[in-house]
Amino acid sequence: MTVCDVLVIGGGLAGLLAATTAAESGRKTVAVSKNHPLRSHSTAAAGGINAALTEEDTVLHIEETVAAGCGLCDRKAVELLCREAAAVVNRFLRNGTPFQWNEERNEPEGRPFGAMSAPRTRFVGDRTGAALMQTAFDQAERAGVRFEYSVFLIDLIKDGSRIAGAYGIRTETGAVEVFWAGAVILAAGGAGALFDVTSNGIGSTGDGAAMALRAGVPLRDWELIQFHPTGLYPSGFLISEAARGEGAVLRNKDMEAFMSRCHEKGDLAPRDAVTRAIVTELKCGRGFGKRGDFVLLDCRNIPSERLSARLPELCDLTETALHIHPSTHLIPVIPTAHYFMGGVACDLDGRALDGIGFPVPGLYAAGECACTGVHGANRVGGNSLLETVVFGARAGTTAAAECTGSKALSPPPEATAAEAAASLNERLTPFLNTGETGRRPAETPLDCRRELKEIMSAYCGTTHTTVRHKQGAAKLALLNRRFARCRLKTDPGRPYNTELKDFLETENLLFLAEALFSAAEERSESIGAFCREDQLYAGATPYHTATEWRKGRFLTERRPL
Ligand SMILES: Cc1cc2nc3c(=O)[nH]c(=O)nc-3n(C[C@H](O)[C@H](O)[C@H](O)COP(=O)(O)OP(=O)(O)OC[C@H]3O[C@@H](n4cnc5c(N)ncnc54)[C@H](O)[C@@H]3O)c2cc1C
Repeated sequence: MTVCDVLVIGGGLAGLLAATTAAESGRKTVAVSKNHPLRSHSTAAAGGINAALTEEDTVLHIEETVAAGCGLCDRKAVELLCREAAAVVNRFLRNGTPFQWNEERNEPEGRPFGAMSAPRTRFVGDRTGAALMQTAFDQAERAGVRFEYSVFLIDLIKDGSRIAGAYGIRTETGAVEVFWAGAVILAAGGAGALFDVTSNGIGSTGDGAAMALRAGVPLRDWELIQFHPTGLYPSGFLISEAARGEGAVLRNKDMEAFMSRCHEKGDLAPRDAVTRAIVTELKCGRGFGKRGDFVLLDCRNIPSERLSARLPELCDLTETALHIHPSTHLIPVIPTAHYFMGGVACDLDGRALDGIGFPVPGLYAAGECACTGVHGANRVGGNSLLETVVFGARAGTTAAAECTGSKALSPPPEATAAEAAASLNERLTPFLNTGETGRRPAETPLDCRRELKEIMSAYCGTTHTTVRHKQGAAKLALLNRRFARCRLKTDPGRPYNTELKDFLETENLLFLAEALFSAAEERSESIGAFCREDQLYAGATPYHTATEWRKGRFLTERRPL
Protein backbone atom coordinates (compact mmCIF):
# COMPACT_ATOMS: atom_id res chain seq x y z
CA MET A 1 0.00 0.00 0.00
CA THR A 2 1.27 3.50 -0.89
CA VAL A 3 0.42 6.33 1.50
CA CYS A 4 0.79 9.90 0.18
CA ASP A 5 -0.52 13.43 0.63
CA VAL A 6 -1.87 13.93 -2.89
CA LEU A 7 -2.76 11.18 -5.35
CA VAL A 8 -3.10 12.30 -8.97
CA ILE A 9 -4.94 9.91 -11.27
CA GLY A 10 -3.59 10.58 -14.77
CA GLY A 11 -0.30 11.64 -16.31
CA GLY A 12 -1.66 13.79 -19.15
CA LEU A 13 -1.15 17.55 -19.22
CA ALA A 14 -3.77 18.18 -16.51
CA GLY A 15 -2.32 15.47 -14.26
CA LEU A 16 1.27 16.68 -14.73
CA LEU A 17 0.38 20.28 -13.88
CA ALA A 18 -1.69 19.23 -10.86
CA ALA A 19 1.08 16.96 -9.59
CA THR A 20 3.78 19.58 -10.13
CA THR A 21 2.00 22.31 -8.17
CA ALA A 22 1.05 19.89 -5.37
CA ALA A 23 4.67 18.72 -5.10
CA GLU A 24 5.97 22.29 -5.26
CA SER A 25 3.71 23.08 -2.29
CA GLY A 26 5.74 20.54 -0.34
CA ARG A 27 3.27 17.67 -0.51
CA LYS A 28 4.27 14.07 -1.06
CA THR A 29 2.67 13.55 -4.47
CA VAL A 30 2.18 10.36 -6.45
CA ALA A 31 0.96 10.48 -10.08
CA VAL A 32 -0.50 7.20 -11.32
CA SER A 33 -1.20 6.47 -14.97
CA LYS A 34 -2.03 3.36 -16.95
CA ASN A 35 0.64 4.19 -19.54
CA HIS A 36 3.80 6.26 -19.48
CA PRO A 37 2.72 9.92 -19.09
CA LEU A 38 4.27 10.84 -22.44
CA ARG A 39 1.89 8.36 -24.09
CA SER A 40 -1.16 10.20 -22.75
CA HIS A 41 -3.58 11.65 -25.26
CA SER A 42 -2.30 15.17 -24.51
CA THR A 43 0.84 14.25 -26.45
CA ALA A 44 -1.28 13.89 -29.61
CA ALA A 45 -2.64 17.45 -29.35
CA ALA A 46 -1.77 19.17 -32.56
CA GLY A 47 -2.86 22.67 -33.48
CA GLY A 48 -1.93 24.75 -30.44
CA ILE A 49 -2.83 26.49 -27.21
CA ASN A 50 -4.77 29.75 -27.13
CA ALA A 51 -3.21 32.80 -25.52
CA ALA A 52 -4.07 36.44 -26.07
CA LEU A 53 -0.99 38.54 -25.35
CA THR A 54 -2.65 41.97 -24.95
CA GLU A 55 -5.50 43.17 -22.72
CA GLU A 56 -7.59 44.08 -25.77
CA ASP A 57 -7.20 40.63 -27.28
CA THR A 58 -7.85 38.96 -23.91
CA VAL A 59 -11.26 40.63 -23.75
CA LEU A 60 -11.99 39.37 -27.27
CA HIS A 61 -10.82 35.86 -26.32
CA ILE A 62 -13.28 35.87 -23.41
CA GLU A 63 -16.19 37.11 -25.52
CA GLU A 64 -15.53 34.68 -28.35
CA THR A 65 -15.21 31.69 -26.01
CA VAL A 66 -18.49 32.59 -24.30
CA ALA A 67 -20.25 33.10 -27.65
CA ALA A 68 -19.01 29.78 -29.05
CA GLY A 69 -20.21 28.02 -25.86
CA CYS A 70 -23.83 28.99 -26.73
CA GLY A 71 -24.76 30.42 -23.34
CA LEU A 72 -23.67 27.41 -21.28
CA CYS A 73 -20.22 28.73 -20.28
CA ASP A 74 -19.45 29.78 -16.74
CA ARG A 75 -18.26 33.32 -17.41
CA LYS A 76 -16.06 33.53 -14.32
CA ALA A 77 -14.24 30.37 -15.34
CA VAL A 78 -13.76 31.68 -18.88
CA GLU A 79 -12.34 34.98 -17.59
CA LEU A 80 -9.91 33.13 -15.37
CA LEU A 81 -8.88 30.86 -18.24
CA CYS A 82 -8.23 33.67 -20.70
CA ARG A 83 -6.55 36.00 -18.23
CA GLU A 84 -3.98 33.40 -17.21
CA ALA A 85 -3.17 32.36 -20.78
CA ALA A 86 -0.27 34.72 -21.50
CA ALA A 87 1.46 33.73 -18.24
CA VAL A 88 1.01 30.05 -19.14
CA VAL A 89 2.69 30.45 -22.53
CA ASN A 90 5.50 32.51 -20.99
CA ARG A 91 6.10 29.85 -18.35
CA PHE A 92 6.33 27.11 -20.97
CA LEU A 93 8.66 29.30 -23.05
CA ARG A 94 10.95 29.90 -20.08
CA ASN A 95 11.03 26.16 -19.40
CA GLY A 96 12.08 25.38 -22.95
CA THR A 97 8.99 24.80 -25.13
CA PRO A 98 10.09 25.77 -28.66
CA PHE A 99 7.04 27.79 -29.76
CA GLN A 100 7.10 29.04 -33.35
CA TRP A 101 8.47 32.60 -33.10
CA ASN A 102 7.33 35.77 -34.83
CA GLU A 103 10.56 37.76 -35.30
CA GLU A 104 8.79 40.95 -36.32
CA ARG A 105 6.62 41.14 -33.23
CA ASN A 106 9.14 39.34 -31.03
CA GLU A 107 6.52 37.04 -29.54
CA PRO A 108 5.23 33.51 -30.08
CA GLU A 109 3.59 33.24 -33.49
CA GLY A 110 -0.21 32.92 -33.49
CA ARG A 111 -2.38 31.09 -36.02
CA PRO A 112 -6.12 31.60 -36.59
CA PHE A 113 -8.45 28.91 -35.21
CA GLY A 114 -12.19 28.36 -35.55
CA ALA A 115 -14.61 30.83 -33.90
CA MET A 116 -11.74 33.25 -33.16
CA SER A 117 -11.30 36.61 -34.86
CA ALA A 118 -7.57 36.94 -34.14
CA PRO A 119 -4.59 34.61 -34.67
CA ARG A 120 -3.98 33.76 -31.02
CA THR A 121 -3.32 30.01 -31.09
CA ARG A 122 0.37 29.53 -30.16
CA PHE A 123 1.97 26.43 -31.59
CA VAL A 124 4.93 24.17 -32.19
CA GLY A 125 4.26 23.04 -35.81
CA ASP A 126 1.28 20.70 -35.46
CA ARG A 127 2.88 18.79 -32.60
CA THR A 128 2.14 21.28 -29.83
CA GLY A 129 0.90 18.67 -27.34
CA ALA A 130 4.12 16.66 -27.55
CA ALA A 131 6.23 19.77 -26.93
CA LEU A 132 4.12 20.91 -23.95
CA MET A 133 4.07 17.41 -22.46
CA GLN A 134 7.84 17.06 -22.66
CA THR A 135 8.29 20.35 -20.79
CA ALA A 136 5.58 19.55 -18.22
CA PHE A 137 7.01 16.06 -17.59
CA ASP A 138 10.49 17.50 -16.98
CA GLN A 139 9.03 20.04 -14.56
CA ALA A 140 7.07 17.38 -12.68
CA GLU A 141 10.15 15.19 -12.29
CA ARG A 142 12.14 18.20 -11.09
CA ALA A 143 9.43 19.01 -8.52
CA GLY A 144 9.83 15.52 -7.06
CA VAL A 145 6.58 13.89 -8.20
CA ARG A 146 6.69 10.12 -7.87
CA PHE A 147 5.39 8.42 -11.02
CA GLU A 148 3.68 5.06 -11.09
CA TYR A 149 3.04 4.46 -14.73
CA SER A 150 1.85 0.98 -15.17
CA VAL A 151 -0.95 0.83 -12.67
CA PHE A 152 -4.51 0.60 -13.96
CA LEU A 153 -6.75 2.23 -11.36
CA ILE A 154 -10.17 0.70 -10.99
CA ASP A 155 -12.11 2.53 -8.29
CA LEU A 156 -11.94 5.27 -5.70
CA ILE A 157 -11.81 4.32 -2.03
CA LYS A 158 -13.96 6.12 0.52
CA ASP A 159 -13.28 6.73 4.19
CA GLY A 160 -16.74 7.71 5.45
CA SER A 161 -17.81 10.48 3.10
CA ARG A 162 -14.22 11.45 2.21
CA ILE A 163 -12.51 10.15 -0.93
CA ALA A 164 -9.39 8.65 0.58
CA GLY A 165 -7.57 7.00 -2.31
CA ALA A 166 -7.94 4.49 -5.10
CA TYR A 167 -7.08 0.92 -5.95
CA GLY A 168 -6.07 -0.84 -9.12
CA ILE A 169 -3.79 -3.46 -10.58
CA ARG A 170 -0.11 -3.29 -11.46
CA THR A 171 0.33 -4.42 -15.05
CA GLU A 172 3.59 -6.37 -14.61
CA THR A 173 2.37 -8.49 -11.72
CA GLY A 174 -1.39 -8.26 -11.83
CA ALA A 175 -1.26 -7.58 -8.10
CA VAL A 176 -3.80 -5.28 -6.47
CA GLU A 177 -2.30 -1.91 -5.43
CA VAL A 178 -3.90 0.46 -2.95
CA PHE A 179 -3.12 4.17 -2.78
CA TRP A 180 -4.20 5.92 0.41
CA ALA A 181 -4.12 9.72 0.21
CA GLY A 182 -5.14 12.98 1.87
CA ALA A 183 -6.54 14.23 -1.45
CA VAL A 184 -7.28 12.64 -4.82
CA ILE A 185 -7.15 14.57 -8.11
CA LEU A 186 -8.94 12.93 -11.03
CA ALA A 187 -7.23 13.80 -14.33
CA ALA A 188 -7.90 10.67 -16.34
CA GLY A 189 -8.91 12.27 -19.67
CA GLY A 190 -11.89 11.83 -21.99
CA ALA A 191 -13.96 8.94 -23.32
CA GLY A 192 -13.63 9.29 -27.12
CA ALA A 193 -13.10 5.52 -27.36
CA LEU A 194 -16.89 5.17 -26.97
CA PHE A 195 -17.20 5.88 -30.68
CA ASP A 196 -16.31 4.05 -33.84
CA VAL A 197 -14.88 7.05 -35.63
CA THR A 198 -12.76 9.01 -33.18
CA SER A 199 -9.64 11.13 -33.02
CA ASN A 200 -8.87 9.74 -29.57
CA GLY A 201 -6.47 6.97 -28.77
CA ILE A 202 -7.62 3.54 -27.57
CA GLY A 203 -6.82 4.54 -23.98
CA SER A 204 -9.41 7.36 -23.82
CA THR A 205 -11.97 5.14 -22.12
CA GLY A 206 -13.37 7.54 -19.53
CA ASP A 207 -12.08 5.51 -16.57
CA GLY A 208 -11.98 8.63 -14.36
CA ALA A 209 -15.57 9.59 -15.14
CA ALA A 210 -16.72 6.01 -14.49
CA MET A 211 -14.86 5.89 -11.16
CA ALA A 212 -16.48 9.16 -10.08
CA LEU A 213 -19.94 8.03 -11.10
CA ARG A 214 -19.56 4.71 -9.25
CA ALA A 215 -18.49 6.65 -6.16
CA GLY A 216 -21.71 8.66 -6.35
CA VAL A 217 -20.18 11.84 -7.86
CA PRO A 218 -22.39 13.11 -10.70
CA LEU A 219 -21.27 14.05 -14.22
CA ARG A 220 -22.37 17.37 -15.64
CA ASP A 221 -23.37 17.87 -19.32
CA TRP A 222 -22.14 14.37 -20.17
CA GLU A 223 -24.12 14.39 -23.43
CA LEU A 224 -22.25 17.42 -24.81
CA ILE A 225 -19.68 15.81 -27.06
CA GLN A 226 -17.67 17.63 -29.67
CA PHE A 227 -17.36 15.98 -33.07
CA HIS A 228 -14.38 17.55 -34.77
CA PRO A 229 -15.30 18.33 -38.39
CA THR A 230 -12.15 16.96 -39.97
CA GLY A 231 -11.25 13.38 -39.14
CA LEU A 232 -9.42 11.45 -41.82
CA TYR A 233 -11.89 9.19 -43.68
CA PRO A 234 -12.64 6.46 -42.64
CA SER A 235 -10.60 6.07 -39.42
CA GLY A 236 -11.27 9.48 -37.86
CA PHE A 237 -7.59 10.33 -37.16
CA LEU A 238 -7.48 14.02 -36.53
CA ILE A 239 -6.71 16.53 -39.27
CA SER A 240 -6.07 19.55 -37.08
CA GLU A 241 -8.11 22.72 -37.39
CA ALA A 242 -4.69 24.30 -37.93
CA ALA A 243 -5.06 23.19 -41.58
CA ARG A 244 -8.08 25.44 -42.03
CA GLY A 245 -6.30 28.06 -39.92
CA GLU A 246 -3.54 28.05 -42.53
CA GLY A 247 -6.08 28.43 -45.35
CA ALA A 248 -7.46 24.97 -46.26
CA VAL A 249 -11.12 24.82 -47.37
CA LEU A 250 -13.81 22.12 -47.26
CA ARG A 251 -15.41 21.05 -50.54
CA ASN A 252 -18.42 18.91 -51.42
CA LYS A 253 -18.78 16.63 -54.42
CA ASP A 254 -19.48 19.58 -56.70
CA MET A 255 -16.16 21.09 -55.54
CA GLU A 256 -18.16 23.87 -53.90
CA ALA A 257 -16.45 25.49 -50.87
CA PHE A 258 -19.74 25.06 -48.99
CA MET A 259 -18.76 26.66 -45.67
CA SER A 260 -18.88 30.13 -47.22
CA ARG A 261 -22.61 29.51 -47.82
CA CYS A 262 -23.25 27.95 -44.39
CA HIS A 263 -21.63 30.38 -41.96
CA GLU A 264 -20.37 33.93 -42.01
CA LYS A 265 -17.00 32.78 -40.67
CA GLY A 266 -16.70 30.27 -43.49
CA ASP A 267 -14.26 27.42 -42.87
CA LEU A 268 -13.25 28.94 -39.54
CA ALA A 269 -16.77 28.83 -38.09
CA PRO A 270 -17.19 27.27 -34.62
CA ARG A 271 -16.64 23.50 -34.72
CA ASP A 272 -20.26 22.58 -34.03
CA ALA A 273 -21.39 24.65 -37.03
CA VAL A 274 -18.81 23.12 -39.38
CA THR A 275 -19.72 19.60 -38.27
CA ARG A 276 -23.44 20.25 -38.78
CA ALA A 277 -22.73 21.71 -42.20
CA ILE A 278 -20.79 18.58 -43.21
CA VAL A 279 -23.55 16.30 -41.88
CA THR A 280 -26.08 18.32 -43.88
CA GLU A 281 -24.01 18.11 -47.07
CA LEU A 282 -23.83 14.34 -46.65
CA LYS A 283 -27.54 14.02 -45.89
CA CYS A 284 -28.41 16.14 -48.93
CA GLY A 285 -26.40 13.85 -51.19
CA ARG A 286 -23.52 16.21 -51.76
CA GLY A 287 -20.91 13.92 -50.22
CA PHE A 288 -18.01 12.43 -52.10
CA GLY A 289 -17.21 8.78 -52.79
CA LYS A 290 -19.33 5.83 -53.90
CA ARG A 291 -21.60 6.13 -50.89
CA GLY A 292 -21.30 9.88 -50.65
CA ASP A 293 -20.09 9.58 -47.08
CA PHE A 294 -17.23 12.08 -46.88
CA VAL A 295 -16.27 15.58 -47.99
CA LEU A 296 -12.86 16.86 -49.05
CA LEU A 297 -10.32 19.13 -47.42
CA ASP A 298 -8.42 21.17 -49.95
CA CYS A 299 -4.97 22.35 -48.80
CA ARG A 300 -3.66 23.03 -52.30
CA ASN A 301 -3.72 26.79 -51.83
CA ILE A 302 -1.18 26.56 -48.97
CA PRO A 303 2.38 26.83 -50.36
CA SER A 304 4.12 23.47 -49.93
CA GLU A 305 7.05 24.91 -47.91
CA ARG A 306 4.54 26.40 -45.48
CA LEU A 307 2.71 23.06 -45.31
CA SER A 308 5.88 21.18 -44.41
CA ALA A 309 7.00 23.79 -41.89
CA ARG A 310 3.70 24.36 -40.12
CA LEU A 311 1.78 21.12 -40.60
CA PRO A 312 4.43 18.36 -40.67
CA GLU A 313 2.18 15.91 -38.84
CA LEU A 314 -0.59 16.36 -41.41
CA CYS A 315 1.89 15.73 -44.27
CA ASP A 316 3.20 12.59 -42.50
CA LEU A 317 -0.30 11.30 -41.78
CA THR A 318 -1.64 11.68 -45.31
CA GLU A 319 1.53 10.22 -46.79
CA THR A 320 1.46 7.20 -44.48
CA ALA A 321 -2.27 6.55 -44.56
CA LEU A 322 -3.20 7.55 -48.12
CA HIS A 323 0.12 7.89 -49.98
CA ILE A 324 -0.81 11.39 -51.04
CA HIS A 325 0.62 14.83 -50.31
CA PRO A 326 -1.81 17.57 -49.25
CA SER A 327 -0.14 20.10 -51.58
CA THR A 328 -1.33 18.12 -54.61
CA HIS A 329 -4.27 15.99 -53.46
CA LEU A 330 -7.54 16.61 -51.63
CA ILE A 331 -7.99 14.82 -48.30
CA PRO A 332 -11.20 12.84 -47.55
CA VAL A 333 -12.65 13.88 -44.19
CA ILE A 334 -15.61 13.14 -41.89
CA PRO A 335 -16.66 14.39 -38.43
CA THR A 336 -14.90 12.45 -35.69
CA ALA A 337 -15.66 12.10 -31.95
CA HIS A 338 -13.12 14.38 -30.32
CA TYR A 339 -13.85 15.92 -26.95
CA PHE A 340 -16.19 15.61 -23.95
CA MET A 341 -17.29 19.06 -22.80
CA GLY A 342 -18.98 17.42 -19.80
CA GLY A 343 -17.43 15.58 -16.89
CA VAL A 344 -17.04 15.77 -13.12
CA ALA A 345 -18.47 19.17 -12.16
CA CYS A 346 -15.96 21.28 -10.27
CA ASP A 347 -15.50 24.78 -8.97
CA LEU A 348 -12.84 27.28 -10.06
CA ASP A 349 -10.28 25.73 -7.71
CA GLY A 350 -10.78 22.20 -8.94
CA ARG A 351 -12.95 20.89 -6.07
CA ALA A 352 -15.29 18.18 -7.34
CA LEU A 353 -18.94 19.04 -6.64
CA ASP A 354 -21.84 16.83 -5.69
CA GLY A 355 -25.35 17.02 -7.16
CA ILE A 356 -26.29 20.10 -5.14
CA GLY A 357 -23.05 21.99 -5.64
CA PHE A 358 -21.17 21.16 -2.42
CA PRO A 359 -17.54 20.01 -2.56
CA VAL A 360 -17.01 16.25 -2.29
CA PRO A 361 -14.49 15.91 0.56
CA GLY A 362 -11.08 14.80 -0.67
CA LEU A 363 -11.89 14.82 -4.41
CA TYR A 364 -10.62 17.24 -7.08
CA ALA A 365 -10.76 17.04 -10.87
CA ALA A 366 -9.01 18.64 -13.83
CA GLY A 367 -8.59 18.33 -17.59
CA GLU A 368 -10.96 16.61 -19.98
CA CYS A 369 -12.59 14.44 -17.30
CA ALA A 370 -13.64 17.60 -15.44
CA CYS A 371 -16.33 20.12 -16.30
CA THR A 372 -15.20 23.58 -15.19
CA GLY A 373 -17.70 25.38 -17.41
CA VAL A 374 -15.16 26.99 -19.74
CA HIS A 375 -16.38 25.21 -22.87
CA GLY A 376 -20.15 25.46 -22.44
CA ALA A 377 -21.90 23.55 -25.20
CA ASN A 378 -19.12 23.87 -27.75
CA ARG A 379 -15.37 24.03 -27.10
CA VAL A 380 -13.19 26.41 -29.03
CA GLY A 381 -10.10 24.70 -30.50
CA GLY A 382 -6.93 25.50 -28.54
CA ASN A 383 -8.82 26.13 -25.29
CA SER A 384 -8.49 22.60 -23.95
CA LEU A 385 -4.72 22.55 -23.59
CA LEU A 386 -5.04 25.92 -21.90
CA GLU A 387 -7.71 24.56 -19.55
CA THR A 388 -5.62 21.52 -18.58
CA VAL A 389 -2.74 23.80 -17.60
CA VAL A 390 -4.67 26.56 -15.83
CA PHE A 391 -7.15 24.37 -13.96
CA GLY A 392 -4.73 21.46 -13.49
CA ALA A 393 -2.38 23.78 -11.63
CA ARG A 394 -5.22 25.25 -9.58
CA ALA A 395 -6.50 21.80 -8.58
CA GLY A 396 -2.98 20.85 -7.47
CA THR A 397 -2.61 23.97 -5.35
CA THR A 398 -6.03 23.58 -3.71
CA ALA A 399 -5.58 19.87 -3.04
CA ALA A 400 -2.17 20.52 -1.49
CA ALA A 401 -3.57 23.26 0.74
CA GLU A 402 -6.67 21.37 1.86
CA CYS A 403 -5.44 17.82 2.22
CA THR A 404 -4.62 16.14 5.46
CA GLY A 405 -0.89 15.44 5.27
CA SER A 406 0.02 11.76 5.10
CA LYS A 407 1.57 11.95 8.57
CA ALA A 408 -1.64 13.23 10.15
CA LEU A 409 -3.80 11.04 7.94
CA SER A 410 -5.85 8.48 9.77
CA PRO A 411 -4.18 5.15 9.00
CA PRO A 412 -5.95 3.06 6.40
CA PRO A 413 -8.20 0.47 7.97
CA GLU A 414 -6.35 -2.85 8.10
CA ALA A 415 -8.87 -4.43 5.82
CA THR A 416 -8.61 -1.87 2.97
CA ALA A 417 -6.16 -3.81 0.78
CA ALA A 418 -7.91 -7.11 1.37
CA GLU A 419 -11.28 -5.55 0.60
CA ALA A 420 -9.97 -4.05 -2.65
CA ALA A 421 -8.55 -7.40 -3.74
CA ALA A 422 -11.76 -9.20 -2.79
CA SER A 423 -13.94 -6.72 -4.68
CA LEU A 424 -11.77 -7.09 -7.80
CA ASN A 425 -11.85 -10.87 -7.55
CA GLU A 426 -15.59 -10.84 -7.16
CA ARG A 427 -15.88 -8.73 -10.32
CA LEU A 428 -13.51 -10.89 -12.30
CA THR A 429 -14.21 -14.45 -11.26
CA PRO A 430 -17.15 -14.99 -13.62
CA PHE A 431 -15.07 -13.75 -16.54
CA LEU A 432 -11.95 -15.81 -16.00
CA ASN A 433 -11.70 -18.92 -18.06
CA THR A 434 -10.26 -21.07 -15.31
CA GLY A 435 -10.44 -24.72 -16.14
CA GLU A 436 -11.23 -24.10 -19.78
CA THR A 437 -7.67 -23.62 -21.01
CA GLY A 438 -7.39 -23.95 -24.76
CA ARG A 439 -11.06 -23.31 -25.46
CA ARG A 440 -11.72 -19.97 -27.05
CA PRO A 441 -14.96 -18.50 -25.82
CA ALA A 442 -17.35 -17.11 -28.37
CA GLU A 443 -16.93 -13.52 -27.26
CA THR A 444 -14.21 -11.44 -25.68
CA PRO A 445 -14.34 -7.97 -24.13
CA LEU A 446 -12.95 -6.50 -27.34
CA ASP A 447 -15.78 -8.02 -29.40
CA CYS A 448 -18.23 -6.26 -27.10
CA ARG A 449 -16.28 -3.02 -27.28
CA ARG A 450 -16.33 -3.09 -31.09
CA GLU A 451 -20.10 -3.50 -31.08
CA LEU A 452 -20.55 -0.81 -28.44
CA LYS A 453 -18.68 1.70 -30.60
CA GLU A 454 -20.97 0.89 -33.54
CA ILE A 455 -24.06 1.34 -31.39
CA MET A 456 -22.89 4.68 -30.02
CA SER A 457 -21.94 6.07 -33.43
CA ALA A 458 -25.23 4.98 -34.98
CA TYR A 459 -27.62 5.94 -32.16
CA CYS A 460 -25.94 8.70 -30.16
CA GLY A 461 -23.55 10.42 -32.56
CA THR A 462 -23.48 13.75 -34.36
CA THR A 463 -27.28 14.12 -34.32
CA HIS A 464 -29.99 12.90 -31.96
CA THR A 465 -33.59 11.72 -32.02
CA THR A 466 -35.70 10.17 -29.27
CA VAL A 467 -36.44 7.15 -31.46
CA ARG A 468 -32.75 6.47 -32.01
CA HIS A 469 -31.99 6.94 -28.30
CA LYS A 470 -34.60 4.30 -27.45
CA GLN A 471 -33.37 1.87 -30.10
CA GLY A 472 -29.75 2.41 -29.05
CA ALA A 473 -30.51 1.96 -25.34
CA ALA A 474 -32.32 -1.32 -26.12
CA LYS A 475 -29.34 -2.59 -28.13
CA LEU A 476 -27.05 -1.53 -25.32
CA ALA A 477 -29.11 -3.50 -22.80
CA LEU A 478 -28.72 -6.63 -24.96
CA LEU A 479 -25.00 -6.00 -25.31
CA ASN A 480 -24.69 -5.65 -21.53
CA ARG A 481 -26.26 -9.08 -21.15
CA ARG A 482 -23.80 -10.54 -23.64
CA PHE A 483 -20.91 -8.80 -21.88
CA ALA A 484 -21.92 -10.57 -18.67
CA ARG A 485 -21.39 -13.87 -20.51
CA CYS A 486 -18.13 -13.04 -22.26
CA ARG A 487 -14.87 -14.57 -21.06
CA LEU A 488 -11.24 -13.52 -20.93
CA LYS A 489 -9.73 -15.75 -23.64
CA THR A 490 -7.44 -18.44 -22.37
CA ASP A 491 -5.08 -16.68 -20.00
CA PRO A 492 -6.35 -16.83 -16.44
CA GLY A 493 -3.04 -15.41 -15.17
CA ARG A 494 -2.71 -11.86 -13.93
CA PRO A 495 0.78 -10.64 -15.01
CA TYR A 496 0.73 -8.59 -18.23
CA ASN A 497 -2.79 -9.74 -18.90
CA THR A 498 -3.79 -7.06 -21.41
CA GLU A 499 -7.18 -8.64 -21.84
CA LEU A 500 -7.89 -7.90 -18.21
CA LYS A 501 -7.30 -4.22 -19.01
CA ASP A 502 -9.56 -4.51 -22.07
CA PHE A 503 -12.22 -6.01 -19.84
CA LEU A 504 -12.02 -3.26 -17.22
CA GLU A 505 -12.02 -0.51 -19.86
CA THR A 506 -14.96 -2.05 -21.70
CA GLU A 507 -16.87 -2.33 -18.44
CA ASN A 508 -16.31 1.40 -17.90
CA LEU A 509 -17.35 2.25 -21.46
CA LEU A 510 -20.58 0.26 -21.17
CA PHE A 511 -21.37 2.01 -17.90
CA LEU A 512 -20.71 5.45 -19.41
CA ALA A 513 -22.71 4.63 -22.55
CA GLU A 514 -25.79 4.00 -20.45
CA ALA A 515 -25.30 7.34 -18.70
CA LEU A 516 -24.87 8.98 -22.10
CA PHE A 517 -28.18 7.66 -23.49
CA SER A 518 -30.15 8.87 -20.50
CA ALA A 519 -28.40 12.28 -20.43
CA ALA A 520 -28.94 12.73 -24.19
CA GLU A 521 -32.62 11.87 -23.92
CA GLU A 522 -33.09 14.42 -21.16
CA ARG A 523 -31.71 17.26 -23.28
CA SER A 524 -34.70 18.17 -25.39
CA GLU A 525 -33.31 21.22 -27.23
CA SER A 526 -30.41 21.55 -29.60
CA ILE A 527 -27.55 23.54 -28.18
CA GLY A 528 -23.99 23.86 -29.45
CA ALA A 529 -22.56 20.46 -30.25
CA PHE A 530 -25.80 18.71 -29.23
CA CYS A 531 -28.14 18.59 -32.20
CA ARG A 532 -31.68 17.20 -32.21
CA GLU A 533 -32.50 16.12 -35.71
CA ASP A 534 -36.16 17.08 -35.45
CA GLN A 535 -34.95 20.65 -35.10
CA LEU A 536 -33.02 20.43 -38.35
CA TYR A 537 -34.00 22.61 -41.23
CA ALA A 538 -32.82 20.68 -44.24
CA GLY A 539 -32.63 23.71 -46.47
CA ALA A 540 -29.65 25.72 -47.55
CA THR A 541 -28.23 25.90 -44.05
CA PRO A 542 -27.84 23.39 -41.27
CA TYR A 543 -29.36 23.19 -37.82
CA HIS A 544 -30.90 25.75 -35.51
CA THR A 545 -31.97 26.00 -31.94
CA ALA A 546 -35.54 25.08 -31.13
CA THR A 547 -36.36 28.71 -30.39
CA GLU A 548 -35.10 29.80 -33.79
CA TRP A 549 -37.04 26.97 -35.36
CA ARG A 550 -40.26 28.12 -33.75
CA LYS A 551 -39.61 31.70 -34.77
CA GLY A 552 -38.81 30.57 -38.27
CA ARG A 553 -35.42 32.28 -38.21
CA PHE A 554 -33.37 29.80 -40.08
CA LEU A 555 -31.77 31.54 -42.98
CA THR A 556 -28.26 31.80 -41.61
CA GLU A 557 -26.76 30.21 -38.57
CA ARG A 558 -27.04 32.86 -35.89
CA ARG A 559 -24.65 33.18 -33.04
CA PRO A 560 -23.70 36.36 -31.15
CA LEU A 561 -20.21 37.42 -32.27
C1 LIG B 1 -5.78 14.17 -31.67
C2 LIG B 1 -6.11 15.30 -30.74
C3 LIG B 1 -5.62 16.56 -30.97
C4 LIG B 1 -5.91 17.60 -30.09
N1 LIG B 1 -5.40 18.85 -30.34
C5 LIG B 1 -5.65 19.85 -29.46
C6 LIG B 1 -5.09 21.15 -29.68
O1 LIG B 1 -4.37 21.41 -30.64
N2 LIG B 1 -5.38 22.12 -28.77
C7 LIG B 1 -6.16 21.89 -27.67
O2 LIG B 1 -6.37 22.80 -26.87
N3 LIG B 1 -6.70 20.66 -27.45
C8 LIG B 1 -6.45 19.63 -28.30
N4 LIG B 1 -6.99 18.40 -28.07
C9 LIG B 1 -7.70 18.14 -26.81
C10 LIG B 1 -6.68 17.98 -25.68
O3 LIG B 1 -5.47 17.46 -26.18
C11 LIG B 1 -7.17 17.06 -24.57
O4 LIG B 1 -8.47 17.39 -24.22
C12 LIG B 1 -6.28 17.20 -23.33
O5 LIG B 1 -4.94 17.03 -23.70
C13 LIG B 1 -6.69 16.20 -22.27
O6 LIG B 1 -5.72 16.18 -21.27
P1 LIG B 1 -5.93 15.37 -19.93
O7 LIG B 1 -4.70 15.56 -19.12
O8 LIG B 1 -7.23 15.74 -19.33
O9 LIG B 1 -6.07 13.84 -20.38
P2 LIG B 1 -5.10 12.84 -21.16
O10 LIG B 1 -3.98 13.53 -21.84
O11 LIG B 1 -5.99 11.99 -21.98
O12 LIG B 1 -4.47 11.96 -19.98
C14 LIG B 1 -5.21 11.02 -19.27
C15 LIG B 1 -4.27 10.29 -18.33
O13 LIG B 1 -5.01 9.46 -17.45
C16 LIG B 1 -4.42 8.19 -17.37
N5 LIG B 1 -5.47 7.22 -17.06
C17 LIG B 1 -6.67 7.08 -17.68
N6 LIG B 1 -7.36 6.07 -17.11
C18 LIG B 1 -6.59 5.57 -16.12
C19 LIG B 1 -6.74 4.50 -15.18
N7 LIG B 1 -7.83 3.72 -15.15
N8 LIG B 1 -5.75 4.26 -14.31
C20 LIG B 1 -4.61 5.01 -14.33
N9 LIG B 1 -4.42 6.04 -15.20
C21 LIG B 1 -5.39 6.30 -16.08
C22 LIG B 1 -3.79 7.97 -18.75
O14 LIG B 1 -2.75 7.02 -18.70
C23 LIG B 1 -3.27 9.39 -19.04
O15 LIG B 1 -2.00 9.55 -18.47
C24 LIG B 1 -6.72 17.36 -28.96
C25 LIG B 1 -7.22 16.08 -28.71
C26 LIG B 1 -6.94 15.07 -29.61
C27 LIG B 1 -7.52 13.71 -29.34
